[in-house]
Amino acid sequence: MRKNIVAGNWKMNLNAEQTRALISELASVQLPENTRVLVAPPFVNLSAALEAAAHSSVEVMAQNMHQAESGAYTGEVSASMLTHLGVKTVVLGHSERRSYFGETDALLAQKVQTALNHHMEVVFCFGEELAERENNTHFEVVASQLKNALFALPASTWSSIVLAYEPVWAIGTGLTASSAQAQEMHAFIRQTIAEAYSASLAQEVSILYGGSVKANNAAELFGQPDVDGGLIGGASLVAADFKGIIDGLR
Ligand code: PEP
Repeated sequence: MRKNIVAGNWKMNLNAEQTRALISELASVQLPENTRVLVAPPFVNLSAALEAAAHSSVEVMAQNMHQAESGAYTGEVSASMLTHLGVKTVVLGHSERRSYFGETDALLAQKVQTALNHHMEVVFCFGEELAERENNTHFEVVASQLKNALFALPASTWSSIVLAYEPVWAIGTGLTASSAQAQEMHAFIRQTIAEAYSASLAQEVSILYGGSVKANNAAELFGQPDVDGGLIGGASLVAADFKGIIDGLR
């Protein structure tokens, strides 16, 4: 059965001390059955985060990773560096990586493959921009992001893939997709995976929604049949807000 997941993307926020403090607060939350909570601090705070999360149900993931095994890539971090620390999950394809750092679906396909080669789980982010929704090309855009980055993978690797549909127009803007818009797209994503692989594989993939999820809209979004939780930016930086969002899964 697919899991319900609430994942926090802390982006370029919090120092090591603040990271430890926030994880300690989250560590006390009693999670509903079949539920996971993950947080993604910046690379420099991963060790502090792993220490603080040890013996709790909070899982720590990285925000990004380079596609190469090692080499002359100043400022970059490899999969083996992450797994050596104990990080088992990596977020790839966040819209900020795509728009500010030029990450394409072709590059992301390489990153995903490298992560899987290292037995890492991938939280793969994708979603349309505002103009694409307004042009009514959002389904086409989402289908092509999935196809170009993920559909060459063998079915056996999909147990290590979590999807995060994040309409770019809703990230950090305060604009949230309505629960009907989120459900419509999540159902389309599941159907697209079913057509590329099988209906049973599609049923097992957790599909998270991301984009201005807050404690006051989480329950309605997460209550949709194809929405299996959320990827949370701003509201994951405040313990009470993030806990309120986790409560939305109950
Ligand atoms: C995100 O950055 O993935 C995100 C969803 O941000 P926010 O919740 O702040 O919109």
